[in-house]
Amino acid sequence: MLTYDQALTQILSQIAPLAPDELPLSDALGCVLAEDLVAPQAVPPFDNSSMDGFAVRAADLVNIPAVLPVQGDIPAGALVVPRLTPGSALRIMTGAPVPPGADAVVPVEDTEARPEGVAFLEPVTPGRHIRRAGEDVAAGSVVVAAGSLMRPAEVGMAAVVGRGWVRAHPRPRVAVLSTGDELVEPGQPLLAGQIYNSNAYALAAQVAEAGGVVTRRLHARDTADALREAFDACAGADVLLTSGGVSVGDYDFVKAVFAERGTMDFWRVAIRPGKPVAFGHWGQTVFFGLPGNPVSSMVTFELFVRPALRKMRGLTETARPAVTARLTEDARHAPGRQSYQRAVVTWEGSGCRVTPTRRQGSGMMRSMVQANALLVIPADVSTLPVGEAVTVLLLD
Ligand code: AMP
Ligand code: MG
Repeated sequence: MLTYDQALTQILSQIAPLAPDELPLSDALGCVLAEDLVAPQAVPPFDNSSMDGFAVRAADLVNIPAVLPVQGDIPAGALVVPRLTPGSALRIMTGAPVPPGADAVVPVEDTEARPEGVAFLEPVTPGRHIRRAGEDVAAGSVVVAAGSLMRPAEVGMAAVVGRGWVRAHPRPRVAVLSTGDELVEPGQPLLAGQIYNSNAYALAAQVAEAGGVVTRRLHARDTADALREAFDACAGADVLLTSGGVSVGDYDFVKAVFAERGTMDFWRVAIRPGKPVAFGHWGQTVFFGLPGNPVSSMVTFELFVRPALRKMRGLTETARPAVTARLTEDARHAPGRQSYQRAVVTWEGSGCRVTPTRRQGSGMMRSMVQANALLVIPADVSTLPVGEAVTVLLLD
């Protein structure tokens, strides 16, 4: 059986960043840029006022108080700007072009209205309250480099330089296919023997959090024909995630139906929870057959699918941050497979402490709700004593 590291290496070696595309800027948040964003012109594009006030010639305010007639108004967005007549002032608004002939702006709160004009009580240095053309960005400069993650600031910067679209790696399009005759949609009544289909919702949320987009959500009953139909409806997605039906039960048809279509690379990994996890490819589609138990489904998403989605997005950092923490109590472990126990990490001073959640059953969603980390216990280790330094993967 593959180890986790072997399995992840195999997955990532088969995945490349998705081909860049032109994305509308409003869809670019969270995408990785595949071009340098270059400013076609300077920012700001013209000298403008940083205050509401009066555009003046500093030379006219040498003898204080100076009372100057107001020649007119320059609002923000003014297309025609008069030349300032020496010995007068122009009322100007924040962001409005500084008129030719003026060399400073005096804020309105530093002036007094007089019948004959506006009174200036202090002299002003040339350049005061003027934002110079190009002081933020020079024409032709790179404002966001290729490979950058588009955060809100990068989205804003792209807009600052006038870009309506950017060339970036698109979000992976993910189909989520849940299986199981026992499953009922949340919101519907449960009959005896039924449970709610939680994996479809948890997985869709994990996809969104990992930067993918769920383009199809399907449920199939436990028959080979139902699965065939559902698989075919998912063709063409970048990633196909199934949940359940991937084990060795009599109604577990996922592997067989997938094998009719694509190539299965592996279907078991020496981890706990999540041993029956399958990976393969089908044309352009990458396939993950995740186990049905809710915790196993979420943990295997974390361990295998999230890194794959991040690589498709063009990110180079695909793993959750790993830190060393001290156990606050013994961590029970049966040797054999590498474990990912749900755990709570707390920070104390410079150190980090970790406590496994009480119950570790692979069907117990409460352990995922309580946890903020996965505690990694190597395969060959039995129970770890309190105080031991262990590796934890931080989930949030
Ligand atoms: P399976 O691998 O299909 O045998 O499923 C293993 C366990 O996970 C069973 O107890 C299933 O009822 C449960 N399970 C499978 N799929 C889901 C799902 N979508 N939501 C919640 N539980 C599930
Ligand atoms: Mg099932």
